[in-house]
Amino acid sequence: MPFATGEKATTFRREGILFVISAPSGTGKSTLCENLRRTPDFIFSISCTTRKPRPGEVDGEDYFFLDEKQFFEKVAAGEFLEYAKVHGCWYGTLRRTALEALSKGTDVLLDIDVQGAKNIRNQEDARLKSALVDVFIMPPTLAELERRLRKRGTEDEKEIARRLERGREEMKAWKEFKYTILSGSMEEDLTKFRAIMRAERYLSRRLTLYDGG
Ligand code: 5GP
Repeated sequence: MPFATGEKATTFRREGILFVISAPSGTGKSTLCENLRRTPDFIFSISCTTRKPRPGEVDGEDYFFLDEKQFFEKVAAGEFLEYAKVHGCWYGTLRRTALEALSKGTDVLLDIDVQGAKNIRNQEDARLKSALVDVFIMPPTLAELERRLRKRGTEDEKEIARRLERGREEMKAWKEFKYTILSGSMEEDLTKFRAIMRAERYLSRRLTLYDGG
């Protein structure tokens, strides 16, 4: 049926969108994702990591905290959609959770690093490619990134220097992303991200007419 006719209301169905957010450490991406997590708009994919939990972090909520042996058992079993070493620890996105949600029409939000985004972008799977919307959050300046990293107060001087150096490298990758948000205040970043989210949800190619059957 090319279009709906008569009295019957038109309804659409669509596959889920895989929103990937990447940014240099300290940009404010985690806070942005936390704000987005509070809305019923998507499921947030909880990654596995070999990093030790920070105070207040909860296993199964913030991450699934694993040791290297457990992590690499999952690698061997093909359980990760992507995985990468970030700041000396391993991080991986669980394939099943993400793909199951997408096939049910639920949008998925991934907070992953630049390598992870590249890894997903380079996958052959046509459905994954069509579902992917990758967004880079660009710090306004390196000085501002440094200021934000220091304000967070979770890293020592050596770690701040390492993260800044890595941030400088990661910022070079912005053109590979479909969208780039120049980071301002948290509210501004949220507004910009929501604009992307809304437009992507109305893409005609994602929709199919639903006849109630
Ligand atoms: P943190 O340890 O500060 O929570 O995260 C460090 C970095 O790892 C962040 O840039 C975060 O986006 C990234 N990260 C978190 N989970 C994953 C994942 O599953 N895969 C990849 N590639 N990066 C991740």
